[in-house]
Amino acid sequence: MELQTLERIECPLLLARVGNTPLVPLQSPNQAVQILGKVEWFNPGGSVKDRAARAIFETAIAEGKLTHDKTLIDATSGNTGIAYAMIGAALGYRVELVMPANVSAERKKIARAYGATITLTDPLEGSDGAIIKVRELALDRARYYYADQYNNDANWRAHYETTGKEIWQQTRGRITHLVAGVGTSGTMMGAGRRLKENNPAVQLVEVQPADELQVIEGLKHMPSAIVPGIYDSNLADRQVAIDTDAAYRETHRAAREEGLFVGLSAGAAIAAARQVAREIEQGIIVVILPDGGDRYLSTALWS
Ligand code: PMP
Repeated sequence: MELQTLERIECPLLLARVGNTPLVPLQSPNQAVQILGKVEWFNPGGSVKDRAARAIFETAIAEGKLTHDKTLIDATSGNTGIAYAMIGAALGYRVELVMPANVSAERKKIARAYGATITLTDPLEGSDGAIIKVRELALDRARYYYADQYNNDANWRAHYETTGKEIWQQTRGRITHLVAGVGTSGTMMGAGRRLKENNPAVQLVEVQPADELQVIEGLKHMPSAIVPGIYDSNLADRQVAIDTDAAYRETHRAAREEGLFVGLSAGAAIAAARQVAREIEQGIIVVILPDGGDRYLSTALWS
């Protein structure tokens, strides 16, 4: 979203700092292939989801759907919740989040620190359990604005307007592959569409957990999940399945060997990027690193 639009709704300066994250070189297993990481924890709310949440707020306010007498409600695996909570606090809107109980303790505490109310759902039902619960709560239309990030076009458009555009500019149009995990799929749908429009030869590589038992916070195994309305399974050129062990290994390796303290979904995406790098002759791969490792300190990842 443009700074001008934000100023019109009198957004605090912090929100104008969403986006324009750095692109840093990662080690590559193939000398002829460069791997560049888009460091999304540089966003003020600490994750890629600041982009979508800001656009969702901005659109809902502009369309008159979100007013100060309503509470913004949504299902989230955590990062969107933190972003909503931060922006809600900054702009003076109440935020209520529905999350699976097994979301990392850090995520719940940070969202609560910003003043959000949290409803926890059965961890065994994963993010789908939270979606089912929020749909029930959101029936009270007088009380809630249901942000519905899984079906809200403002989600992927945010990445079309910012993430994809930035990657094109930062690589001076030389990107050959985009690698990103899919949760709501907003990042891949938006950035992917922008890059394909700029150069149809850019290959889009979508990362998913290998099966429904591989839990990688933030990512969805689409064949077994409630499929987001904004997800187009035909957009990506290929899908790479990553299991939890590989994601753990890459997350640990990135910290120890590259000085990059990333979250588990970033580890999964790096694993996929390195797999692609080994398979192609040459190229420039951009991999999205959605959040940083400190949001996972209480989880099995670092125990
Ligand atoms: N990784 C993490 C840690 C996330 O929180 C999310 C958002 N659910 C993603 C990846 C996937 O991003 P998107 O929703 O844009 O597909």
